[in-house]
Amino acid sequence: MKILFIGDGQLGQMLGASGISHGHECLLFSTRSNTVKPLSAQLDLSMSLAEAIAWADVVSWEHEDIPADIIAAAHDKFLMDPARIKSLTDRRAEKKLFDDCQVPTSPWQTYHNADELTKILQQAEQPLVLKAARGGYDGKGQWRFGVADEVAEVAAAAGQAPGIAEQMIAFEREVSLVGARSKDGSICCYPLITNVHERGILSYSLGAIDPVSDALQQQAEACFKRLTDALNYVGVLAIEFFVVEEQQQTKLLVNEIAPRVHNSGHWTMTGANSSQFDLHIRALTGMPLPLLRLTPTLMLNVIGAEQIPAGLWHHADTDCHWYNKEARPGRKVGHVNIRTANRDTAQQWVSQWAHKLQVLAD
Ligand code: ATP
Ligand code: MG
Ligand code: MG
Repeated sequence: MKILFIGDGQLGQMLGASGISHGHECLLFSTRSNTVKPLSAQLDLSMSLAEAIAWADVVSWEHEDIPADIIAAAHDKFLMDPARIKSLTDRRAEKKLFDDCQVPTSPWQTYHNADELTKILQQAEQPLVLKAARGGYDGKGQWRFGVADEVAEVAAAAGQAPGIAEQMIAFEREVSLVGARSKDGSICCYPLITNVHERGILSYSLGAIDPVSDALQQQAEACFKRLTDALNYVGVLAIEFFVVEEQQQTKLLVNEIAPRVHNSGHWTMTGANSSQFDLHIRALTGMPLPLLRLTPTLMLNVIGAEQIPAGLWHHADTDCHWYNKEARPGRKVGHVNIRTANRDTAQQWVSQWAHKLQVLAD
C-alpha cells in the first residue's frame, strides 16, 4: 500500500522505516518545510502535497495536531475522523472524552482567563496542577499550585491562556499502555510500561520488566478499549496513567492519551517481535495484529546530549537510535534500548548513564 505520514520527525521516520520493511511505499510530509519527503528512492522527489495525497491509499500522522488544510484535502484517506483526533490536542476535549467514557481521571475544571483561575485558586483545598489547554508537551505549559502559594502570581502566569486546573495526584508511580486497535475492533497491547520523568520530560521506561498484576493490566486494557472504541480508532494509541493506592487497592487514573506512537513505546523496537511502529502499520494496512513475544528492555532517552558515547554503541546489549537533530537542553535527540534482566540491573544502567545522556533545561 501507499502510506503518507504527516510529520517528518523521529516518529514519522520510524513509522516510515517500519512501513517499508512491511513492503509498503511511504512518504513523509514535513509540516515545517511544507515539503514531501520520500523514504523509497524510486519515488518522485518533487511531489506537491496535493499530489502526495492523491498518490496515497492511506494518510496517517506522527502527531495528532494535523493541519486543517490536510484534514480537508485528505478527508477520505484517513481511517477515522481526523478532526475528532485533532480536537484532542485541547486538554478540555481530552478530559471530557475520559469523563464521557467513564475512565477514571484526576478531578478537573476549566478556566478561560486569570480572573476565573484566581477564583479556583482561592477556593483550592488541595494542591493543583494547571495546564494550558493547548500546546503543552514534555511538561511545558504547566504550573504547580500549593494552597500556601501566592494566588495572584500563579494566576497571572497560568491565566494568560485558557486551561484546566486538575487535582495534583500523589501517585505511587507512572505507567503507560501502548497498543493498537484494528478496524474490526480487535486490540493488541504491550504490558504496562513504567515511566520515570525528570522535570516533566520522560527520562526512561521499563518495558516488560517486573510485570504488573493481571488485574491492573486488565484495568488498563479496559480503558484502552473504551477510549479507542469511542474514537473508532485505527492504529497505535498510548495512554499515560498514574498508579494510586486507594483503600488498599491499586488503581489507575488516566493522565493523558497520545493518539499515535509514543516515546514510552520505543523499547519495543528491541524488546518485542513486533514494535509499536510495526503494530501501527499492521493496523493501518489491515494485516492481523501479532501475538507478542517480549524481552525485558530499558529505554533511556537521550536528551540534549551532543552524542551517544561510544561505549553504548559498542555494547552487545544496547541498540542506539540517533535522530540527527541539533542538541539543545531538554530536547529529545535519541534513545538507547538496553536488554536487561530485571529492575535492579536496569536501575544500574540508569545510574551509570542517565546523567551522561541527559542535559535537561532549567
Ligand atoms: P507529554 O510530554 O507526556 O505529552 P505533557 O507536557 O503533555 O507531557 P503531562 O503528561 O500532563 O504533560 O504531565 C507531565 C508530567 O507532570 C506527568 O508525567 C507527571 O509526572 C506530572 N503530572 C501531570 N499532571 C499531574 C497531576 N495531576 N498530578 C501529579 N503529577 C502530574
Ligand atoms: Mg502530553
Ligand atoms: Mg504526558
